Amino acid sequence: MAYDYDLFVIGAGSGGVRASRIAAGHGARVGICEDYRVGGTCVIRGCVPKKLLVYGSKFAHEFEDAAAYGWILAEPTHSWATLRDNVAKEVDRLNGVYLRLLDGAGVKLHMGRGRLMDRHTIEIGSQTITAEKILVAAGGAPVVPDIPGREFAITSNEAFHLPELPRRIAIVGGGYIAVEFAGIFNGLGSHVDLVLRRDRVLRGFDEECRTAVHDALKDGGVKMRTEMQIARIEATPSDSRGGKAPFTVHTQLGGMFETDLVMYATGRAPNTNGIGLEKVGVQLDKAGAIAVDEWSKTTAPNIWAVGDVTDRINLTPVAIMEGHCFADTEFGGKPRKPDHRDVPSAVFCQPELANVGLTEEEARMRLGELRIFTSAFRPMKYTVSGRQQRTFMKLIVEAATDKVVGVHMVGDDAAELVQGLAVAVKAGATKAQFDATVGIHPTAGEEFVTMRTARVEPAPSRKAAE
Ligand code: NDP
Repeated sequence: MAYDYDLFVIGAGSGGVRASRIAAGHGARVGICEDYRVGGTCVIRGCVPKKLLVYGSKFAHEFEDAAAYGWILAEPTHSWATLRDNVAKEVDRLNGVYLRLLDGAGVKLHMGRGRLMDRHTIEIGSQTITAEKILVAAGGAPVVPDIPGREFAITSNEAFHLPELPRRIAIVGGGYIAVEFAGIFNGLGSHVDLVLRRDRVLRGFDEECRTAVHDALKDGGVKMRTEMQIARIEATPSDSRGGKAPFTVHTQLGGMFETDLVMYATGRAPNTNGIGLEKVGVQLDKAGAIAVDEWSKTTAPNIWAVGDVTDRINLTPVAIMEGHCFADTEFGGKPRKPDHRDVPSAVFCQPELANVGLTEEEARMRLGELRIFTSAFRPMKYTVSGRQQRTFMKLIVEAATDKVVGVHMVGDDAAELVQGLAVAVKAGATKAQFDATVGIHPTAGEEFVTMRTARVEPAPSRKAAE
């Protein structure tokens, strides 16, 4: 049977767009559908606008530090509307870039939500389209627990479009999004309550790094409400002067506090509903994500899935890698699997956390004897400005092979630095090779090639790097 397309992609985010462009480049006839805006979470309501807000909020610290370097500045004031609108303009520009990329690659865009009718048929509104192969790249969406008053809460989706900057905001969760937005709103001058159900932020990251980020948030002025769960959110009536009604947040242990805005950042779930997966034999895993094999193939023979909808490693560059591998394999005659080992990542809290490879805890579980190198120091810039912010670095080395199996950093520009070191880790560099590398002086990064003395075991449990 002749199909309309060789490949049809559901979802024009990072993974879907990459797969469709590469497949088209290999000569396939490709269609793609999107029900919101081309670019997906990363470009439209995630990584990109978030990072721009981080840049915006960081000026607060820069202004403070400038004084000791002789700059005399008037008391800075901030316009949320200017920042918000400029970020939105950049998102519009990138949306246009993505549209042009698809067009330039010869990929036909169908606006609307795609629904699988059978294994080769997709319905988008009133259109019916057929394709030989189908890729589901439908992404994920924020999850808000079902508590009374959840309708008053926003998620990161709405945070980019706020009519005004909240004077006070309660952010619920202790993951990537929660700590990043805590830094953003704190920098812009809001009072931030970070409400997390554990004792520290960022479960799953290296324990010492978690502590370093947690302490930095607290020292930076974020109110850390730890081991706290929210029972309900109440809209409190306007005050007698007709002021804007704040919310009262009630905790499970009977406490309460007031805030002007509640934002939930309690995780994201794969977008698997309403696309007809059950009809075509695409099975989900226990967590509700599309189950795929190492080639990103689903349980249906002509259907693949990449990106957050598969809940492997939910990062844009990983979705891009998965989409590219799929297209090369199926349409380019170049079979290759995505490699999920040693994927570097960063959390754009302030200061940043970045890492590649194993955490100390993972390395202890999986490997034999380790050598751990750490360094904690006040960055040069702050010795003059007086800022108390510290940088923490850690190398984890497998003793038997001398291989560096983990690199971790909490500090300014951590993401930029660790990206370079990720190449070394991916290439299997040894500690001896790190040691043989000459540092660039004076930088924070040179510390990674000058750490000579392994920590004396046993490892400190949770104490912050000092
Ligand atoms: P995360 O999974 O990172 O964190 C969720 C947080 O919410 C955890 O602290 C979790 O606590 C907590 N939580 C979950 N359920 C509840 C609940 N019912 N009540 C209270 N707290 C709860 O999710 P995010 O939403 O922060 O981010 C989603 C994903 O997006 C990330 O996993 C990441 O892959 C991606 N992302 C990546 C970024 C980057 O690369 N810089 C930036 C932003 C997002 P607990 O630890 O106890 O489970």
